[in-house]
Amino acid sequence: MIPLIDLTLDKKTLDEIKKEINQVIDSKNYILGVKLESFEDKFAKYIRVKYAVGVGNGTDALRLSLRALGIGRGDKVLTVSLTSPFTIIAIIEEGAIPVFCDVDEATWTCDVGDAEKKVDKKTKAIIPVHLFGNPCNMDSILKLAKKHNLKVIEDACQAHGAKYHGKMIGSFGDTAAFSFYPTKNLGAFGDSGIVTTNNHNIARIIKLLRQGGQTKRFWHEYRGINSRLDEIQAAILSAKLASLEENNSKRAKLSKRYKKGLNNLPIIFQNTFDCSVSSNHIFAVNIRKRDSLRRFLAGNNINCDVYYPYPAHLQPAFKHFFRERLRKTEQLSKRLLALPLYPSLKDKDQDFIIAKIKNFFKS
Ligand SMILES: *Cc1c(COP(=O)(O)O)cnc(C)c1O
Repeated sequence: MIPLIDLTLDKKTLDEIKKEINQVIDSKNYILGVKLESFEDKFAKYIRVKYAVGVGNGTDALRLSLRALGIGRGDKVLTVSLTSPFTIIAIIEEGAIPVFCDVDEATWTCDVGDAEKKVDKKTKAIIPVHLFGNPCNMDSILKLAKKHNLKVIEDACQAHGAKYHGKMIGSFGDTAAFSFYPTKNLGAFGDSGIVTTNNHNIARIIKLLRQGGQTKRFWHEYRGINSRLDEIQAAILSAKLASLEENNSKRAKLSKRYKKGLNNLPIIFQNTFDCSVSSNHIFAVNIRKRDSLRRFLAGNNINCDVYYPYPAHLQPAFKHFFRERLRKTEQLSKRLLALPLYPSLKDKDQDFIIAKIKNFFKS
């Protein structure tokens, strides 16, 4: 069976992780200690921003970004419907109103023209989602934000290491949210996330908010939540950050091999701008006969998956915010299929997948 994702680590990384975990156990310091500070420094340097603040997960990274930027009850937040439902949950949990924009047919990310049509007096922010690690059209998004005085919170939960005009994704918005859910390009052994920003005051407030809003012991100046990145996860992430670039190169190489192997078939790939480098978090194809291809591959022991089968605006929990149909989003939700992709995927296994897909179209 070829899995969709394989989290097996090389021995060197695994040994390093075990050493790091043991250090935390011996230190008897499990929350808000030296491992977190050190990882925050390393991650901020990696993204080339001034500050990184570790939190409990990617959803909370979005929530605390919104809260620190003063966005809450009754404020409208532009975003896409073709995303992890947790993007929407973060907005709703803050009492804000998600405004669903359609996606661009080629990049599968926010259609900025559609977003602009949906701006009104209550619109306060935009959350561009770098879907599958493919950078959004940040030039247009920053222009739109400037024109209408919107805060920009990047949902970079799938985009660790992606670049746009040579600059790291996660350094464009007022803040950016990353998730370290185990399957992400940089994944912990549990939940965790981080906010990146160049704004000292926002970083300071998020540090307070993740810790209940305390400014001194038992004194709550702000209405915070309880959402921290613990020492064990921080230590694991520090050890894994060292091989993120190498793993991303492997993903890029595999994506390129897929595109080469599958050209001349009735398959459309996600378009990446010339100025962009994707993190290749997920390799998905746009194909009309998605469900039958998926069944065919499953029958050949190849495991695929669908991201995302149910657009947020059509789901019971979010239907309240439904305003209009989103033609491209709905079509892509019926046509996108994610193929196996992980750094340790063997060329021969990938060749087998490619051969089977070719067989599917011949039969
Ligand atoms: C994973 C993910 C999230 C949520 O991150 P968690 O760490 O699971 O809370 C949000 N948005 C996107 C696009 C994601 O892929």
